[in-house]
Amino acid sequence: MPANDTVYDVIVVGAGNAALSAAIAAREQTQSVLVVEKAPEYFRGGNTYFTGGIIRFAFNGLDDIKGLIPDMSETEANSIEVGQYTENQFYDDMMRVTHGLSDPELAEILVSHSYPTMKWLQEHGVRFVLSFGRQAFRDGDKFRFWGGLVVEAVGAGKGLSDQQFDVCEKLGVEVRYSTEGVSLIQDQMGRVAGLRVKGPDGFEDIAGRAVVLAAGGFEANAEMRCRYLGPGWETVKVRGIPYNTGDGIKMALDVGAQSYGHWSSCHAVAWDMNAPTFGDRTVTELFQKHSYPFGLMVNINGERFLDEGADFRNYTYVTYGRALMDQPQGLCFQVFDDKVKHLLRDEYWIPQATPAEANSIEELARMLDIDPVGLARTIEDYNAAVRTDIPYNATVKDGRRTEGLAVDKTNWAETIDTPPYRGWAVTTGITFTFGGVKVNNRGQVVTNAQDPIPGLYAAGEMVGGLFYHNYPGGSGLSAGMVFGRLAGNSAGEDALALKDV
Ligand SMILES: Cc1cc2nc3c(=O)[nH]c(=O)nc-3n(C[C@H](O)[C@H](O)[C@H](O)COP(=O)(O)OP(=O)(O)OC[C@H]3O[C@@H](n4cnc5c(N)ncnc54)[C@H](O)[C@@H]3O)c2cc1C
Repeated sequence: MPANDTVYDVIVVGAGNAALSAAIAAREQTQSVLVVEKAPEYFRGGNTYFTGGIIRFAFNGLDDIKGLIPDMSETEANSIEVGQYTENQFYDDMMRVTHGLSDPELAEILVSHSYPTMKWLQEHGVRFVLSFGRQAFRDGDKFRFWGGLVVEAVGAGKGLSDQQFDVCEKLGVEVRYSTEGVSLIQDQMGRVAGLRVKGPDGFEDIAGRAVVLAAGGFEANAEMRCRYLGPGWETVKVRGIPYNTGDGIKMALDVGAQSYGHWSSCHAVAWDMNAPTFGDRTVTELFQKHSYPFGLMVNINGERFLDEGADFRNYTYVTYGRALMDQPQGLCFQVFDDKVKHLLRDEYWIPQATPAEANSIEELARMLDIDPVGLARTIEDYNAAVRTDIPYNATVKDGRRTEGLAVDKTNWAETIDTPPYRGWAVTTGITFTFGGVKVNNRGQVVTNAQDPIPGLYAAGEMVGGLFYHNYPGGSGLSAGMVFGRLAGNSAGEDALALKDV
């Protein structure tokens, strides 16, 4: 391990999924890799720790999934229907949900590297399991995976993070906690030659041949949220850590990086009204409420305002999280009857959630502070509009819809008529921001002229250009891994080349 006054080959800023993927890849290329992390050790893992650990990647069938889960039993393999999710499908999903705006080169890298990168982590010892709980429903004698997402890390986000730290430790990557990257150091020629940090002993300049920035977005920075996302965003709840305050983005912009991507948009979800201001490390992602395709979403007046069944949850939950902002008091209520109880995800049943249960719609409305007359009218109109002649099937877009409502529900429309009725109050919880800096196909940060800034690389949430308006669920982790590995690999290669000069 080099002494602190020596020159590191690669310095990585942050210790989430993107950063640790970069550190592992860099260490495969070169000798000395330092990770600096702003959070204390007990708060390590970034937003990655808070995730469900569910990862989107392209695959051609069950054999590819078995390649990631080599200990899958035959019984288990015979009980599932995973279909396939080809690179073309992943690419099409990226373009479809981003209104065609995703940078084609970045999207192509994400899609084509997604499986090889999963395999690479698996070969490093990161273990995966089938995502039965969130992404599959029983359909006859099989569990059918319905949304292109099949695999999660063992132990979810915490497990992914711990396993990546284990790999780093095995490879001899040095990690310094409570150490915040403050600014980039450049040499006379503009090459990034190190990082100024503020750690437990104060400011320090650390020399490095390459720096990979993977310090997250600006979702935890109220001032930046308000400035870039718009008024009102300063008050939303943050689903993850309080450390992602745009530092990496600012450091890169300060040395001439091109700002890139959808700065005025972000990933946000329906989040329990009683959740704390920032994420809770025990509850993690379970404050989310994502089974709305099987119920109704209403505001405090009891009015519906969107098509709960427009698509699978994986393709609507982000825009719907943002849509709550426009409702009175930024609140909304998810309402279900007893028929769909078995379809509600685990997150509905945690003790920290805000449920109400009643035997009549009016009583439920009173318990949740919804206008009872408004809610009763909405449900009466909705029930009358359900096309009960179309079969109901939660595992496919079943086309079972309502007809004639101002806002129709276009799939999974089921009458709400079987007590007990249940409801949960939700508000907007921000996950991460879509604006950032531009990288090229080697993970190098580029200027507006598209020239790489020598010695500077970036990955993860702080890379702009992939996500606009919306996001296919599970692609945050794949993007972090893919671009982290790419950036770390290039940084390691370039550091090695510099040493040889
Ligand atoms: C509740 C929740 C659930 C989610 N579920 C999923 C899911 O199931 N699947 C999925 O694909 N995505 C999910 N996401 C999104 C996912 O978390 C992100 O896309 C991904 O983890 C981002 O990885 P990252 O490495 O870029 O950022 P992070 O994991 O947030 O890492 C950034 C790190 O940088 C550190 N840092 C910040 N500033 C500095 C500085 N100045 N100096 C040093 N370090 C700094 C931070 O402390 C942090 O550790 C979820 C997010 C949340 C919040």
